Amino acid sequence: CGIVGYIGGRQAQEVLISGLSKLEYRGYDSAGVAIGDGACIAVKKKAGKLANLEAELEGRPLTGTLGIGHTRWATHGLPNDTNAHPHATEDGKIVIIHNGIIENYLKLKEALMSRGHEFKSETDSEVLAHLIEEAYSGDLYEAVRTALGQVRGAYGIVVTHVDHREIVAARTVSPLVMGVGEGEMFLASDVPALLAYTRNMVFLHDGDMVVMNDDGFRITDLDGNEQQREIEHIDWDA
Ligand code: GLU
Repeated sequence: CGIVGYIGGRQAQEVLISGLSKLEYRGYDSAGVAIGDGACIAVKKKAGKLANLEAELEGRPLTGTLGIGHTRWATHGLPNDTNAHPHATEDGKIVIIHNGIIENYLKLKEALMSRGHEFKSETDSEVLAHLIEEAYSGDLYEAVRTALGQVRGAYGIVVTHVDHREIVAARTVSPLVMGVGEGEMFLASDVPALLAYTRNMVFLHDGDMVVMNDDGFRITDLDGNEQQREIEHIDWDA
């Protein structure tokens, strides 16, 4: 439902919680964040309101300057802690969040299970983590691109890997907007999540993929062709 991503010099947790709170009006049933500090990616997720997640983080904040956050509107699997996003691979190295529906997830899940993948959640989204893990051989962007070649449906997906200081995202149908700061980059499913931080935004088109790091971004289509997108200045308030 709601998506926020951050890479830069700030503590990511603050940016994610603040951004997700601006998306609360959309309605959701659970919330979660994943924060990377270079050595590992820590995931915290809770069913219920964002306040439940905040209570969980109170006094024990996750530290790190790269993070992704999600508010979930369940379509596949009950709204509980396990089904909340982010979803991580078994080794905890790859972490994803997903908006939308993966239509062919059952078939993909069966095939992945027959190849030894163990699923933790009942969501359609978790197949994305396993597909990316299978496709990964050192290049996260290429792994995400290969995985997306196998899925049908609507998605805004945001991915990070513990060994790379970057965030890879892609969209089909579900909206994504990127905020361009100085030495920092933001991502969200809607503009209000980012207005406190930057007004320089790039609206991703259907079929766009993006790789963001501290210094900037690169956009391609799902075939890997470079795409040029304007940075727009937002001068309205949410
Ligand atoms: N289909 C996914 C799920 O049920 C994502 C739902 C959403 O867009 O929040 O977990």
